[in-house]
Amino acid sequence: MNASFHPPARTLMGPGPSDVNPRILEALSRPTIGHLDPAFIQLMDEIKALLQYAFQTQNALTLPVSAPGSAGMEAVFVNLLERGDKAIVCVNGAFGGRMKENVERCGATAVIVAQEWGKAIDLNAVEDALKAHPDACMLAFVHAETSTGVRSDAQALAALAHRYDCLAVVDAVTSLGGIALEVDAWGIDAIYSGTQKCLSCIPGLSPVSFSERAVARIRGRQQRVQSWFLDMNLIMDYWGGSSRRSYHHTAPINPLYALHEALLCLREEGLENAWQRHANHHNALAAGLHAMGLPLIVDAGHRLPQLNAVGVPDGIDEAAVRAALLQQYDLEIGAGLGTLAGKIWRIGLMGYACNRRNVLQCLSALEAVLIQQGMALPQGAAVAAANARYQQG
Ligand SMILES: *Cc1c(COP(=O)(O)O)cnc(C)c1O
Repeated sequence: MNASFHPPARTLMGPGPSDVNPRILEALSRPTIGHLDPAFIQLMDEIKALLQYAFQTQNALTLPVSAPGSAGMEAVFVNLLERGDKAIVCVNGAFGGRMKENVERCGATAVIVAQEWGKAIDLNAVEDALKAHPDACMLAFVHAETSTGVRSDAQALAALAHRYDCLAVVDAVTSLGGIALEVDAWGIDAIYSGTQKCLSCIPGLSPVSFSERAVARIRGRQQRVQSWFLDMNLIMDYWGGSSRRSYHHTAPINPLYALHEALLCLREEGLENAWQRHANHHNALAAGLHAMGLPLIVDAGHRLPQLNAVGVPDGIDEAAVRAALLQQYDLEIGAGLGTLAGKIWRIGLMGYACNRRNVLQCLSALEAVLIQQGMALPQGAAVAAANARYQQG
């Protein structure tokens, strides 16, 4: 007979999942109750209110889709697009590419505004596309491109979308809880996120939110949403007002306990404090990397604090370094994707994993492994530089 599975004790500093707060794991293990139990329905209402806080929105249609971030992405596109529609999609990394896939699978046309990987979306190029395609109904972009560590200007992009009468659609899987994000103030019409990045919850849920404008579009569709499971017209009745709450699918009860706890942690800390914490630990990590001569590949003005794309030095085997960090230090960092495969490491500082101990542990482990790999590095310099940065506050 097989034995129970006991995972090794890892520190997760890659592109997600990130370390899950033990408080959240404890919530996950509480007894399962029925999904139409009045106590559970009250929990659903609380999750909705906490998600509205996290997204900074009053949107009534704010809820967690019962599947990972990719399903939130799909939910947004299948509900807002019909066959024959046109959407402008900004692509500056792997996840923008997936948006294009989704648009096309809806039978819509994707007009691509392509940007070099590692750069932010260019506002002028987007405006040119909006001018050239006045029949487009949507502008879609990734706020925090996890594949490259780039933050694009979501506020300015959403404003551009509205100026050209397009819905502003945003991937906030990695941005939510890590950097400033204000759905209502910025005029975002549809947004999806994930639970396993800066919310430090378990993977498998995707918070989404739709503006009134987006809801009107969903209600006024000519064609049925091709996905029964993700059709918001049906899900609204499940997550909507408690009087007419009716069975759609069995909600993932225990994962929702975990999400509730994760959102409570965020509210207790305060959104702005969480954003500041990510910035502070990023600054210390960046100082340590700099002391080792390791470059961050993204311009300072567009860096994500929660996802650091680090250039691999010449002559270093990037996969061997990651393997050694995992084997010797139980530390997971990420590899590059697409055009950046083999060229970068991706060091995540997400949510609960974004703390001083992890920053210092990561720097000292990386330094030791690079020295093993033959790099001539001044021993201890990285940790000293990070500590000096912390002293500055
Ligand atoms: C992780 C991620 C996704 C996909 O989320 P899953 O939960 O893995 O499906 C989508 N977009 C971005 C920007 C991500 O970082």
